[in-house]
Amino acid sequence: MDDRPSMAMTNDPIALSPPKPKPIINAAGTMTWLGASRMIPDALEAATDMAGRFVDIDSLQLVASRAIARATGAEAGCITGCSAAGLSLSVAGAMTGANLARIERLPDVDGLKDEVVVQAGHLVNYGAPIAQAIRLTGAKVIAAGSAARVEEYNIADAIGERTAAIVFVISHHVVQEGQTPLADVVALARAHGVPVIVDAAAEYDLEGPIKAGADLTVWSSHKFLGGPTAGIVAGTRERVKATYLQNRGLGRHMKVGKEGIAGTIAALEAWSRRDHDAVAERECALLDDWEGALEELQGLTLSRHKDWTGNPVVRLKIDVGPDSGLYAWELADRLAARNPAIIVRDDLVEHGTIYLDPCNLSEAEGAIVSSALRAEVERACRKGDGRVMTLAARRRAKAEAARAWGDPVLL
Ligand SMILES: *Cc1c(COP(=O)(O)O)cnc(C)c1O
Repeated sequence: MDDRPSMAMTNDPIALSPPKPKPIINAAGTMTWLGASRMIPDALEAATDMAGRFVDIDSLQLVASRAIARATGAEAGCITGCSAAGLSLSVAGAMTGANLARIERLPDVDGLKDEVVVQAGHLVNYGAPIAQAIRLTGAKVIAAGSAARVEEYNIADAIGERTAAIVFVISHHVVQEGQTPLADVVALARAHGVPVIVDAAAEYDLEGPIKAGADLTVWSSHKFLGGPTAGIVAGTRERVKATYLQNRGLGRHMKVGKEGIAGTIAALEAWSRRDHDAVAERECALLDDWEGALEELQGLTLSRHKDWTGNPVVRLKIDVGPDSGLYAWELADRLAARNPAIIVRDDLVEHGTIYLDPCNLSEAEGAIVSSALRAEVERACRKGDGRVMTLAARRRAKAEAARAWGDPVLL
């Protein structure tokens, strides 16, 4: 007798789930939860080649250090598992220096400077809370000022005997008003003998933070650079060394592989050769196409929006008005429910806007995005089934969906 369980009886996820998740057209940007970017061919090739070899990782990281120094103007650098890891390890290094015993001892911070000052408007969530990336080293976060108002005196007051570092975040996530700019934070930090660690994970400018005097800066390899999943840390020799040595401690839990290091070196080198004007032109042509396809559509107001932090990306801003028959978040959700799923930038939907980001799209995908958008608005107008889900209900549904991950396949 055949004693194998029948297909219906098994909980085998391979048997139950489709072989691949639904395809995605990414009009949102370099989102980690969508796989961030397409790896550029140079990075893919370097990563693939390295995957089949053995290599002394310390030596490979020295090659990376030189590539990072060339790309950023910093003295040195190292590759980490991701930006979040780079941030944690930079903070850890600021507490331990190159002391191996202290590195092994974290998150026990007895006798170490263990406070990290962050402007209140920089305590954001990029998919996880930045405060947690700092705290998991054993450090305490000292918030300076109030969310939308941080004066120099708030930062000066937050700095004390136990301050190990100031973390400064450059991102569309942070409160854009009322924060103290990097140059002024660096001046304050210097006056107090405290290092500044900059989180510039998604910022295209590889030289600015170093020029502004940051002691360490962190970028993601898998975002605008089109590298593999990894983080890039650049800074002074001494600070980079203290960061790198964390691989003998906390860094072990967030390590980068040889393929991530090799792919990132290649991505950095390709970045310096990339024809950035041609990329901008290509993205501009996508915006032209979208405007042409959508300008007559009822209820939508189109405009071009320059990136919040000055990255060279122009996005199509779509104000979703009552005549569209939809709330902005409903439009985003209906596009995401399609097959292929179309993911738009929806972090500002409470203002009634969605954004289309051209950076990850081909021309053909761009055309699918605009025709799907048109179809959803026309359908909602015809059926009158929109403008029913409140934003609060949508947020609760998103949290519920997060909790339901794996249901019913894993249960
Ligand atoms: C994306 C992002 C991160 C996290 O980067 P990972 O490399 O995915 O860990 C951290 N900070 C900011 C500002 C980001 O945009």
